[in-house]
Amino acid sequence: MTRAVLTLNAGSSSLKVALFPETGDDPLATGLADRIGPDGVLTLKDATGAPIASAGDLTSHAGAIAAVIAAFRARWPDLDLAAIGHRVVHGGADRMTPEMVTGPLLAELAQLSPFAPLHQPHNLAGIRAAMEAFPGVPQVACFDTAFHRSHPFVNDTFALPRAFYDEGVRRYGFHGLSYDYIAGELARSAPHLAEGRVVVAHLGNGASMCGMTHGRSVSSTMGFSALDGLPMGTRCGQLDPGVLLYLMDQRGMNAAQITDLLYRQSGLLGLSGLSNDMRTLEAAGTPEAMQAIDYFTFRCQREVGAMAAALGGIDALVFCGGIGENSRLIRARICERLGWMGIEIDHARNAQNDRIISTDLARTTVMVIPTNEELVIARAARRASGAEGAA
Ligand code: ADP
Repeated sequence: MTRAVLTLNAGSSSLKVALFPETGDDPLATGLADRIGPDGVLTLKDATGAPIASAGDLTSHAGAIAAVIAAFRARWPDLDLAAIGHRVVHGGADRMTPEMVTGPLLAELAQLSPFAPLHQPHNLAGIRAAMEAFPGVPQVACFDTAFHRSHPFVNDTFALPRAFYDEGVRRYGFHGLSYDYIAGELARSAPHLAEGRVVVAHLGNGASMCGMTHGRSVSSTMGFSALDGLPMGTRCGQLDPGVLLYLMDQRGMNAAQITDLLYRQSGLLGLSGLSNDMRTLEAAGTPEAMQAIDYFTFRCQREVGAMAAALGGIDALVFCGGIGENSRLIRARICERLGWMGIEIDHARNAQNDRIISTDLARTTVMVIPTNEELVIARAARRASGAEGAA
């Protein structure tokens, strides 16, 4: 029997999946259902990268989950799911660990939807669809906010009247599953650094930084929403709230229009007028593309400095995410004016995407560690379901 754990990461119109064996870190299969709706496309690959044939109704998340499972069952006829793990963006102010999904938990998570309206409802729809398809299989929710619940009050609050904090207007921080993975990898491979002051830069389409000591989050650039902090593919990053007042008062924009502007039209796309994709911008070389890259790297430099201040120094800087793991240009540009904090990059190591890309004599170790959010979810699902080999 092929006993396995399924991980699901449901977005507004996409569903990322991975199928893990009962033990071990390497998935049996990974895949993506994209553009869920009339033009839905499902791509599944096995561990060798070979495509797994699939077909089915991709007009809804439930249909996409059913299509994924049908394809896996065709490939592994004796497939037996031990558990299903879900990425859930918001776990609220107190949840620090993954939880088994129950009716009351789902109701509580639904109440958090106003805090993450673009993500939470889709995450919960994915859970409901999976529960319907597999009523007997344990479902486990893993929260992007959970890793940051160790923040001190000063990194958890805004200077608004207290009542807003009490009703949940706080700095939650996101990308927690990625930071959890990096903290674990550091503890395993470089324990002396893991105990120290570490800044992790998760630079993908979404981008944020996390300052950690002893493997616990102290500070995050993302706050109440996934908009704050670094500029991203299409999101603005840190913005003077006075701009919002201007947009409402002087431009007459409503909440939906401002949401579209800040989440989908800004960031690298807005500044370059060309693309949200860093590879495209690096290749384009137009003045606007170069300015977008300059702004991105400048804000990253600033935030490394801010994180180091929050941590009282820095022992290691870790890059992850699609840009952080692959772009030698962006890593070099971010590091180039951080010599004052002991950061010195070895350009040959950087060009090879080595794990350590700082010079041997640098005071601060700079690393590239590919992140693996799916594995964090799979491990949590194994633990919760009592599957053998839980790590
Ligand atoms: P998401 O946040 O959607 O998971 P990813 O972590 O996959 O995104 O990151 C996507 C980003 O990584 C894109 O901007 C893409 O251009 C960038 N990227 C991937 N490979 C490279 C590369 N070799 N050089 C520069 N940027 C890259």
